[in-house]
Amino acid sequence: NASGDPPYIAGLNAPQRQAVLTTDGPVLVLAGAGTGKTAALTARLAHLLYTRKAWPSEILSVTFTNKAAREMRERVGRIVGDVVEGMPWLGTFHAIGAKMLRRHAELVGLQSNFTILDTDDQLRLMKQLITAADLDEKRWPARQLAGLIDGWKNKGLTPDMIDAGESELYANGRGKELYTAYQTRLRALNACDFGDLLLHMLTILKTDRDVLALYQQRFKYIMVDEYQDTNSSQYLWLRLLAQSHKNICCVGDDDQSIYSWRGAQVENILKFEKDFPGAAVIKLEQNYRSTPHILAAASGVIANNGGRLGKTLWTAEDAGEKVEVLGVWDGPEEARRVGEEIETHKFRGGSLNDIAILVRAQHQTREFEDRFISIGLNYKIVGGFRFYERAEIRDALAYLRVINQPADDLAFERIVNVPKRGLGDKAVAKVHLLARAEGIPLMLAAARILDSDELTPQARRSLGNLVGDIARWRDMANDLPHPELARQILDESGYTAMWQAEKSTDAAGRLENLSELVRAMEEYENLGAFLEHVSLVMDNEATADEAKVTIMTIHAAKGLEYDTVFLVGWEEGVFPSQRALDEGGLASLEEERRLAYVAITRARRRCVILHAANRRIYGQWTSSIPSRFVGELPPEHIEAQSSMSGGESLWRANWSERADPFAHVERGTGRGPGWQRAQTLGGVKAGPSRVVESRASAVSLGNKGRSDVSLGLRVF
Ligand code: ATP
Ligand code: MG
Repeated sequence: NASGDPPYIAGLNAPQRQAVLTTDGPVLVLAGAGTGKTAALTARLAHLLYTRKAWPSEILSVTFTNKAAREMRERVGRIVGDVVEGMPWLGTFHAIGAKMLRRHAELVGLQSNFTILDTDDQLRLMKQLITAADLDEKRWPARQLAGLIDGWKNKGLTPDMIDAGESELYANGRGKELYTAYQTRLRALNACDFGDLLLHMLTILKTDRDVLALYQQRFKYIMVDEYQDTNSSQYLWLRLLAQSHKNICCVGDDDQSIYSWRGAQVENILKFEKDFPGAAVIKLEQNYRSTPHILAAASGVIANNGGRLGKTLWTAEDAGEKVEVLGVWDGPEEARRVGEEIETHKFRGGSLNDIAILVRAQHQTREFEDRFISIGLNYKIVGGFRFYERAEIRDALAYLRVINQPADDLAFERIVNVPKRGLGDKAVAKVHLLARAEGIPLMLAAARILDSDELTPQARRSLGNLVGDIARWRDMANDLPHPELARQILDESGYTAMWQAEKSTDAAGRLENLSELVRAMEEYENLGAFLEHVSLVMDNEATADEAKVTIMTIHAAKGLEYDTVFLVGWEEGVFPSQRALDEGGLASLEEERRLAYVAITRARRRCVILHAANRRIYGQWTSSIPSRFVGELPPEHIEAQSSMSGGESLWRANWSERADPFAHVERGTGRGPGWQRAQTLGGVKAGPSRVVESRASAVSLGNKGRSDVSLGLRVF
């Protein structure tokens, strides 16, 4: 079959070829980790372009991360050349949604330069609305409202679709009213949140036949990776768009559905065949990624979940090494061990790029960062908003947002008195009052209030200066390159000076961050494009010339693979997370187990799982017991080691009676029967260099302090 097959076909197995060559009609590829789903999807895209079945602009390809989109673009580019440059509709749901919405913003009452709010802005806005509605924010927290509204948006529900029952979920039936107020407020700000990017488009597609027809005809082919993690709103959107040509190809794995907390509906896989009758369902069974031991370990864990669609997986790889399970004393030792292993790997000529450390929650990265910095090991953090979330970055961005979009009240609020310019709460409140009374943006209200005698002379002067500065910067924006503009704004506003004056140890780091921000801007065409990037960005692994170890959450590692993977913190209350244990339901535990499956299957050749006997949580030491998932690893595929005596027998004992997933953990305590023994074990090893206070504080801490071990991740 070497006879003239195009290059992207040559290496594929039969079912993969089928997925690539069945271009017309609906196709569902349902297969386990590492079976080449993404590879097939990429080849399919290349095929459509190579055979000219469609122009680049006629293909809608949805990836789960921006990084995945970039990789797909690169790979396809190697086959078909520059055409990929013109693939406007290759990206994440959010990126594609934003691009579409900018074209039709006026249909939902926005302007095309709308701002995309992040969670922080969203919360602040909701707080204001809650107060304005005369509700006690302590009783009805903004976070709760935000969660509800996000949930509704994920389901594709606009305020008018909220029924009494749903509305009842907040403030005795006022949920709908606040959702409505929130949407109205967003419109006034010319802003939307992430959920709106799709929800507004959904509204437009449902109400405007012309726009619907335009896209239905345009998208001759639709492809979706990681289909198991689409939410209802995404699903409805896809279904609408695919109705005309019905050439839709979705690939996914029910065992890797790990975003139900964000509204993902694994049922979308099952609905596919109903919505698209006659769909070709293709199964891939050969895993090309991992060694048999790794695959067997992952399969052993996931076998404990019920209600799976079930899949066969095999690999032609050599047996390779067993999965290593390493018990260590505490968090610092865990970081030290991982550091040593990596240095050995490097010493033997291995590359740091081949290694990933996967954590359950974002905050777990710090221990490794500290360690790697101290031993001079290059690392990068992937996923989340780490860089752009820092306070100084957010402040700087707020200045830029005000310049870019004068109606951006939230940004204006953030900077109105940062650095401190003698504008008290009273003065700011007066500006708010005027803005509300007149229904105008804060910026405009600030300018107008200067003409009155509402303010003290001092406040008036300060506000006058700020308003004048902003007008001047906005003028400058026309002729100055945007990075230069940013630099000047930060200087002239006194923001840079504020940090220079500060003597704290982290001020220098903050200044470096600000320089880095300006540097980052250079990569974008203009300020608008840069701000768009910031609101969409998920991974900030910038310039990757030097080899680096990757540290990231399991969620962010979805779809990726590494030769060596360290899975750290496999302890009850860390992984599975305390939150999952507190919720107590089987569903959340099973989602944790799918995460474990995703984690293990990221490894190609070497998988090392670590668990520590002691953790410092919120400044206090507490004993931990190994994760139930450690106990679920098939013994014949693992090699267990412990830096403490009795390590393996301990967790084997803990998890021997594993039939009932809750038998070991009393709900809400996070402690199983082995907990007492874990403490005793702690005592055995309590040498002089060890931290001994652990045992005492563990008792009093209980699990309360842990309830915050959160997902800590947002991926768009
Ligand atoms: P996941 O479920 O984790 O997203 P996946 O099913 O998308 O996995 P891919 O990432 O596409 O799997 O492929 C896994 C690995 O197998 C990649 O390194 C890929 O290059 C390789 N691979 C895929 N198909 C083949 C093939 N036919 N022959 C050889 N290697 C392949
Ligand atoms: Mg994939």
